[in-house]
Amino acid sequence: MARRRQIYEGKAKVLFEGPEPGTLVQYFKDDATAFNNKKKGVITGKGVLNNRISEYLMTRLGEIGVPTHFVRRLNMREQLVREVEIIPVEIVVRNIAAGTFSQRFGMAEGTQLPRSIVEYYYKSDELGDPMVSEEHVTAFGWATTQDLDDIMSMALRVNDFLTGLFLGVGLRLIDFKVEFGRLWQNDEMRIVLADEISPDCCRLWDTKTNEKLDKDRFRRDLGQVEEAYQEVARRLGILPEGGPGDVKGPKTLQ
Ligand code: UDP
Repeated sequence: MARRRQIYEGKAKVLFEGPEPGTLVQYFKDDATAFNNKKKGVITGKGVLNNRISEYLMTRLGEIGVPTHFVRRLNMREQLVREVEIIPVEIVVRNIAAGTFSQRFGMAEGTQLPRSIVEYYYKSDELGDPMVSEEHVTAFGWATTQDLDDIMSMALRVNDFLTGLFLGVGLRLIDFKVEFGRLWQNDEMRIVLADEISPDCCRLWDTKTNEKLDKDRFRRDLGQVEEAYQEVARRLGILPEGGPGDVKGPKTLQ
């Protein structure tokens, strides 16, 4: 295959020009970063697993009518997506206190929140993704009030659906981050779920043991990082029982 033109390289993914206009290829790397790039590492096999996990979750969400940028998985590390204009706001939905939220409010990790809380962060590595309010988002023109209404209702639908889906496989969805983009089709714009949904951007705890099965294992040096990502994929039924070795071969692909 001809070498694709690289459009953008992020911390965990590379975007290439897609085979048709209006498409991109999303390549999932094994690189991991935390604390605004201060901590860097490699989680072997993470890209393969996140490609598969994100494909699975985006597909299930598409089936309940949440519009997404996902088209199809191409191979072990790549998926075809629709080209969107990313809204520079990270949407974090929280069900249970953890991470920076626990620190900010002096609330023990694991405390159930009175209801799901949605927060906005401005996507800026230089500024360390500062938390912003709806006022900032609309005043700076990153999104309109109508866009935010759509984003908020989609984010809460994603939360309800994923909470149930993960509970069914013995995982508690503590919190997660999603990104949305503008998809232009025949002069019409709609906002769709973009980026990825994987243990890189979700907190997932085992319902019985509270064991962390997500990127906090990397952030906090808890060990068994690869194994945690594999366990999430295995529970979702998208990794054969064979274990780590299987991740490298095409047999893991359905
Ligand atoms: N998150 C993310 N990217 C970011 C910041 C947060 O994917 O740049 C996710 C993170 O994995 C967690 C949720 O958003 O599931 C809430 O993260 P928090 O604000 O508590 O920050 P953290 O403690 O992860 O730095």
